[in-house]
Formats: sequence, C-alpha cells, structure tokens
Amino acid sequence: MAVLIDGKATSQAIKDELKAKVEEIRKTKGESAVPTLAVVLVGDDPASAVYVRNKKKACEYIGIGSRSIELPAETCEEELLALIDDLNGDAAVTGILVQLPLPAHIDENKVIERISPEKDVDGFNPVNAGRLFTGRPGFVSCTPAGIVELLKRHDINIAGKHCVVVGRSNIVGKPMALLMLKENATVTVCHSKTVNLQEITKQADILICAIGKPRFFGAEYVKDGAVVVDVGIHRMEDGKLCGDVRFDEVEPKCSAITPVPGGVGPMTIAMLMYNCVQAAGMQ
Ligand code: NDP
Repeated sequence: MAVLIDGKATSQAIKDELKAKVEEIRKTKGESAVPTLAVVLVGDDPASAVYVRNKKKACEYIGIGSRSIELPAETCEEELLALIDDLNGDAAVTGILVQLPLPAHIDENKVIERISPEKDVDGFNPVNAGRLFTGRPGFVSCTPAGIVELLKRHDINIAGKHCVVVGRSNIVGKPMALLMLKENATVTVCHSKTVNLQEITKQADILICAIGKPRFFGAEYVKDGAVVVDVGIHRMEDGKLCGDVRFDEVEPKCSAITPVPGGVGPMTIAMLMYNCVQAAGMQ
C-alpha cells in the first residue's frame, strides 16, 4: 500500500511552527514587527470569497495581522493599481495578495507587476519568478513550494530522481519544475501539446499532475513504485472533491501519493503564511 502524503497534518505542523515564530517576534521585537497581510478581493466570486476567508483564518491562527479589502466587481484597473501603490507604501503592511481571478476588464499581469516584489507573498511578480529562475532568494509561488516541503517532510528523496511535471502554468507547472531542478531532480515538463504523454509520465520517479482535468491520470500513466502528487482540485456533481488523478486506480501502484482533499491544497495556505513571516524578516 502506498504511503499517504498527509498535507493536512504537514500544513498544521508548519502553521504551528510559524505561530511559535510570530510569538517570538512579538516578544523580542514588539507588536510593530509582527507581519500584516493585506488581501484584496475584487468582485463577489463565491470560491474566491472562501479562499480569502481561509487566508484570514490562517492569519488569525498564527497570530499575524490581516487587512481585508473588498472592492466591487466594477472597480476599474486604475483604482486597483492606485490601491496597490498605497499598500506598497504602507509600512504597516508586510504582504499583499490580490485574489485571482480578477474581473475580465482588469489586466492581471499589470496588477501582479505592480505589487512590490518585497511584499509579493504569492511569488507571482516577475521579479520573484526571475529570482527563482536564477537561484536567488525571493518569494516562491505557494503551491509548488508547498509540494517540495511536503515531499521533504515525508522523507521522499528528490535528488537524482526523474521528476515529470505535467502542466506549465506560471503559478504551478513552471515554478514546480524550477524547484525540482533546484532540488537536483532530473526534470521533464509536459503540457497539452506533448506527444505520447503516457510514455513520458511512465518514466517518472516523481509524477506531478497539474493540468486541471478531473481524474485524467489513471494507472496507465504511472510507473510501479512512483511518487504521485496530485495538484488538481475539482468539485464533482455529487459535491465531493477530486483531483487530476484517479486515486483509486493509482494508489495501489505507487509508493506514495497525495490525496484530494487533504494533500497539496492545505499546503498552499501554509506556505503563504510562511512567505508572510519571511516578508517581515526581510523588511
Ligand atoms: P492552468 O489551466 O493554468 O494550466 C494547466 C496546464 O496543464 C497547462 O500548462 C496546459 O498545457 C496543461 N494541460 C492541460 N490539459 C492537458 C493535457 N490533456 N495533457 C497535458 N497537459 C495538459 O492550471 P493551473 O496550473 O493554475 O492549475 C492546475 C490545477 O491545479 C487546477 O486543477 C487547479 O485548480 C489546481 N490548483 C490547485 C491548487 C491547490 O492549492 N491545490 C493551487 C493552484 C492550482 P498548455 O500550457 O499547453 O495549455
């Protein structure tokens, strides 16, 4: 039977470590040194509202400040950019997160680029992406950073392994590939134009599935004994959550696997909190 890679417990452990660290900052440096995360939500997308609520709850748990700014869907790009300028200049704000997706009339790239790289706790700003590319310290996109942490804390060896990442988005696939390279894996990146995907994924010692297609990857995509990380998250018609992987089929074949829910998902928020605490240290 495969080892279940427990994202829920690992995320809890990270949040507890951060909580202790924040208490220490509060004691030794005073309240003004405690980080504050500003979360900006534009519009009333219900899924985004849930994510924002969870982020606020995590801030409360680890003892950092959170400032929630909710703007109507009609907010224009200039207004949002002006708000980001204000937050960039506000010494009391350590981290800025703009919840995506934004309404179609706002250019997401412009918004991401406007957030100061030193407050970009999502790690989406091109400056931080460039720092990751060149191996310099900076904020790393939370989901891929969480996956590396999850593997390490489950004693899964990465160095020298063949890691196949399926998906090449700026938020998951590309930073994932760079992080695995940094950990000395041999990395292959696949995407929707990859020919013979199955042949490639079957060579993976570590297979990372991030394509956003419910239950796409079955046993035929997986080598015996592989480690499988399922990044996808989808709500099915019956209300249950599933990933990009057919867990029931794949689990008996692999050595370790992340479940959905309770795998990668909880790690994203833990790493966001980690980045907020880092931001305070850097500023
Ligand atoms: P995107 O839609 O931005 O990217 C999907 C990627 O998958 C693209 O690179 C695309 O290729 C590739 N792809 C799509 N179909 C196929 C296919 N049939 N074969 C091979 N490659 C394919 O998604 P994200 O990266 O943002 O997210 C991926 C999944 O992860 C989603 O389910 C999302 O909900 C989930 N997610 C989960 C998070 C968590 O915290 N658990 C956080 C972030 C995302 P191409 O570039 O050629 O179009």
